[in-house]
Amino acid sequence: MIIIFFVAGLIIGSFLGAVNYRLKIDEDIVWKRSHCPHCKKTIRWYDNIPLLSFILLFGRCRNCRKYISWEYPLIELMTGVLFAAVAIRFFGIQWFGISGIASGGLGADAIIKMSFLLFTVCYLVLIFWHDYDYMLIPDAVVYPAILITFFYKVYEYVQSPLTITSLRSPLTSAFFAALGTAVFFFFLIWISKGKWIGGGDVKLGFLAGLMVGYPKILFVMFFTYFIGAVVSLTFIILKKKTWKSQIPFGPFMVTALLIVMFFGNHIQMWANRYLDIGY
Ligand SMILES: [Zn+2]
Repeated sequence: MIIIFFVAGLIIGSFLGAVNYRLKIDEDIVWKRSHCPHCKKTIRWYDNIPLLSFILLFGRCRNCRKYISWEYPLIELMTGVLFAAVAIRFFGIQWFGISGIASGGLGADAIIKMSFLLFTVCYLVLIFWHDYDYMLIPDAVVYPAILITFFYKVYEYVQSPLTITSLRSPLTSAFFAALGTAVFFFFLIWISKGKWIGGGDVKLGFLAGLMVGYPKILFVMFFTYFIGAVVSLTFIILKKKTWKSQIPFGPFMVTALLIVMFFGNHIQMWANRYLDIGY
């Protein structure tokens, strides 16, 4: 199962890499064949195999021999690894077998949860790279993500025994976490006059709160700033950036969100034991 999901992730990652680029230049997103950004020649299917073609062609275009961005294989690898992580969550460590599906072991609830996680991984990979490349979080990605996450939370709420007035109910907790994060980010924009973060980050913060709810949003914030500080300081020490450089915020938040999505329950158990956060 891990291998199947990994390969599926590579293929979808290759598609996400193309979407990332085409979102910027407003090309017809989905059904156009990939082409080389330098010579515009259509890439043949056998040169478009995720990861493998990049390695076999030494990262160059077959036609014009110019280098193709290392980002493409990296996006593919990232998506593949995250899909594999979703497989591990639902099927355990099972490299090739498909017994989980074949035996009907996965109920409707697990399938909905798994689909939601896979969707989320795709959104987050896109947001990560689009913000990294263009310092922009595209509305065309973040709005549908918010909508689908909202519906998923409604589903979780219906499944949960808690009523809407309980702060721990999935929908209520998600709503307040989303609102709280958005308000906090608005405040940051206001006091920094838009220098620290931008409007896209407010939407991403809202999405993050909606996805993980309270108290996990606190872990997301902690990891976002922790990773942000470590990475920024590293760049400054390596003299690739200065204190005044603009560094996109999205990739840090996406990384933090992925950590909390996959390890949130462990982190929360740890926090309950050693910190008093009231949960
Ligand atoms: Zn070319």
